[in-house]
Parts: sequence; structure tokens; C-alpha cells
Amino acid sequence: MNNRKIFNVIILCVIIFIFLQIHFIYLLCFSKIQRVYSSQEENISAHKFSESEKNIRPDFVETILKKQEKHTNFYFAGPDSPQQIALTFDDGPSYKYTPVILDILEEYDVKATFFMLGKQIKKYPDLAARAAQKGHLIGNHTYSHERMKNLSSQEILDKEIEPTGKLIKKYTGQKTNLIRPPYGDIKEIQINFLSEKGYYIINWSLDLRDWDSCYNKPKIMLDRTAKYIHSGAILLLHDGGGDRSLTVEVLPDLIEFLRENNYVFVTVNELIEEINR
Ligand SMILES: [Zn+2]
Repeated sequence: MNNRKIFNVIILCVIIFIFLQIHFIYLLCFSKIQRVYSSQEENISAHKFSESEKNIRPDFVETILKKQEKHTNFYFAGPDSPQQIALTFDDGPSYKYTPVILDILEEYDVKATFFMLGKQIKKYPDLAARAAQKGHLIGNHTYSHERMKNLSSQEILDKEIEPTGKLIKKYTGQKTNLIRPPYGDIKEIQINFLSEKGYYIINWSLDLRDWDSCYNKPKIMLDRTAKYIHSGAILLLHDGGGDRSLTVEVLPDLIEFLRENNYVFVTVNELIEEINR
């Protein structure tokens, strides 16, 4: 083999090696993206419906209410009548988005419910206080956003719920009995444990998917709302936990659209009267 041939073989080997590396990196990233995406799908298991259920609004609501009926203190939605709905914002307060969202809500005179994280209240106590001063309801979204299924019921109470409840009381003056589990994910035994302690678990019936970059375009979010909105709906949005610029962008149009369709905005405790008894 002359030098020229050896050189060609080396070049070929280098090209094959680079190709394999790129292929390997691609596979690694792609499978990671898939895993992240599927875990987000799992996260919304609490309000995930089959394709056939998705397209028929009465079944969709019916399914929620059936799940809800099994428990006394567990809600996905409020009653069918009157035509009231509750906007809920999770994972805040956040420095960047909570103030803007509060301003929009004030401009439209809408009262919402903020399920706050203890660790975020600790960072931004003034924002938690401001949300309460503006007349919004504050709920407990745990301290650290750890999945409840990784914790025992007692750990959830001691490490997540009570410390956050104390921070909410300290900075907002509100004594909340409302819990939203991270990802809406909670075990039956944990629902029973927490409801025995006097808490109410509040999930949602309409996820605007502002957490999901595949779905969080304003038009898609508005289309989802038009398709799935119903009286008694609890809408899931986020004011923290990531880039929420599209949530901010869609919010005025969302409020206007729902008002045009005669929906009245209330807080979760106004939507579900049983909570106040
Ligand atoms: Zn959350």
C-alpha cells in the first residue's frame, strides 16, 4: 500500500468515527428529549383524557366529575352552574412574571388563585404579599415541588405543606387549606391523609399547557380554551418555574375571550363553596 492509499484509509476512518460520534450524540439527546416529554405527559396524568374523550366536551367534564366524586376533598372543577371559572397560577412567585401577571389581572379586574411554592415565597416575600393585597387567593403548592409519590404522607405534611402554609400566613396573612400537588400527581392514600387534616386538594380541568413548548403558542392556547372551556372550570397556568412570556402574552386575550363568552372569574374558594364550610 502506498502512502496515498494509507492516507485515504485514515481519512475514511476519521470520517466514519466523526459520523458515529454525531449519531451517538443525536441518539443521546433525542432519547433525553423523549424522556423529558414523556415525563411531562405523565405529570399531567391527573387530567389526561383519551383521544375519544378529548373531543366530546360533556364526556370530558363527566370524566372529571366522576374522579372527583370518589373523594370529599379532591377537586378538578367546580359546579356546572353558574357560569363561573377560576384562573390558577402555579410555581410562583417569580421575579420576572408575577408582577406583570398581577398588573394584567388588575387591569381586567380579575381575581385569581396563586398556588405558590414555599421556596419561592422565601425568595420573593414581597411578591407573595402583593398578590394577596390585590385580592387574590393564595394556595399551597408545597415547599420544594418534589413529586408527592416520592414522599410519605407525613413527610409531605411536615416538610412541604406546613412550612409553606406558615410562609403564606406570615407574608400574605391568609391561612390556606388548599393544596395543589406538584404535577397534579398525588396518591389516593395521600389524598385521604391530607383531607383528614382538613386540607382540600385542588387540581384542574383545563390545562393551557403553558409549560409545554410544543403547545404554548398563544393561538393554540386560545384554541384549547375555546374547545374545552366549561362552567366550573379550573384553568391551569404558571407564573413561575420557567419562561412564562407566552403566558403573559396570551393572558389579556384569554380573559377577553372568556368574558365575551359570559364566563365570570372567581377564586377557587368562591368556585367551590364546600371549601368554605
Ligand atoms: Zn407546579
